[in-house]
Amino acid sequence: MTLFDSPDFAGHEGVHAFFDEKTGLKAIVAVHSTARGPAAGGCRMWNYESAQDALTDVLRLSRGMSYKNAIADLDLGGGKAVIIGDSRTQKNPELFRAFGRAVNSLGGMYYSAEDVGVSVADIAEARKETPYMLGLNDGKWGSGDPSPVTADGVYRATLRAVKRLWKQDDLNGLTVAVQGVGHVGGYLCDHLHKAGAKLIVTDVNQAVLREVAERTNATIVAPDEIYDAQAEIYAPCALGATLNQDTLPRLKCKAVIGAANNQLAHPGIGQWLYDMEVLYGPDYLVNGGGITNVAAELKARESGGSFDPEWVERKLVRLMETFDEVLDRSEAEKRPTHEVADAIAEGRIQAAKDAKEAARKAA
Ligand code: NAD
Repeated sequence: MTLFDSPDFAGHEGVHAFFDEKTGLKAIVAVHSTARGPAAGGCRMWNYESAQDALTDVLRLSRGMSYKNAIADLDLGGGKAVIIGDSRTQKNPELFRAFGRAVNSLGGMYYSAEDVGVSVADIAEARKETPYMLGLNDGKWGSGDPSPVTADGVYRATLRAVKRLWKQDDLNGLTVAVQGVGHVGGYLCDHLHKAGAKLIVTDVNQAVLREVAERTNATIVAPDEIYDAQAEIYAPCALGATLNQDTLPRLKCKAVIGAANNQLAHPGIGQWLYDMEVLYGPDYLVNGGGITNVAAELKARESGGSFDPEWVERKLVRLMETFDEVLDRSEAEKRPTHEVADAIAEGRIQAAKDAKEAARKAA
């Protein structure tokens, strides 16, 4: 199959492959859409088994970013970068300087940031070669770690789901099973604990797990046992595709709201959750707080102003209104929530494309 026949490539504006002889950098940048603004999405460093695997990953992730940025109503399109390599052994400043030069050559059609395997320090290296890097700590516009804002958004979505299902404003009497208590999962546990939830937690990192469990009075279970937890809510905050044909029959929950990207192994799983009467918070909607925080950095930089937390707050409020709209429409139209969210995101992307086309014709 050629790239142009690949279903993952469909809808993409472009894919850019980079090789740097001196540092050995092998990177792919996928630009799904610039209809709403420059494409934005993090850079992942992963030891892919093949270039084909890397290509498939970057294409799926970049498309997801178009949807995430549109549903959060950000003036950003969707893109993503992957660097092929082992982030534990193959990272060095020169590699990220080369990545910065690669992104710079795209002339601002794509902005990068940190993602799995890439740290703020790595992005700071790349930033020495290009202005097209976000999620930095320094400067008056710096947005810093997006994880607390991501957790805040997931928590707000959880409260809304609870209000619908149990008609209450807190989490008293409810149990949440949290899978992965890293950056986002840890902050999320703090919110949930404060709101009265009982927590069942798991992680493969024992040190982090013990620390979070201690401060939130949570019960620890083994990684595979989380799917059998007696909990009203399941919060996937580790890996993607944990909602699949093996795990669904084991879940006892009435709602799934978590931070992980690409939670549904495939779209049919969203229909299955709907049929099981489980309220599913579409992943790219409920975890949109982090990218919103990052978008505020770009906005501040472009206007010459400072990072504005109030702008982020207004966007988060709007994102939660969109979540309500998704839940309302899912009920009214008898469709799974992920389908409704996709329709809203696609509508916003198409409207931006149409407006651009109309402006081009008028010029
Ligand atoms: P993280 O690496 O800090 O945390 C993930 C945690 O999951 C780690 O503690 C890890 O040990 C644990 N884990 C890995 N495999 C596991 C398994 N099989 N079972 C249980 N635990 C496991 O990452 P993060 O920044 O907290 O992000 C969590 C998820 O949310 C990821 O899927 C990420 O893509 C997504 N996300 C994060 C942000 C953000 O702002 N950080 C924004 C949007 C989406």
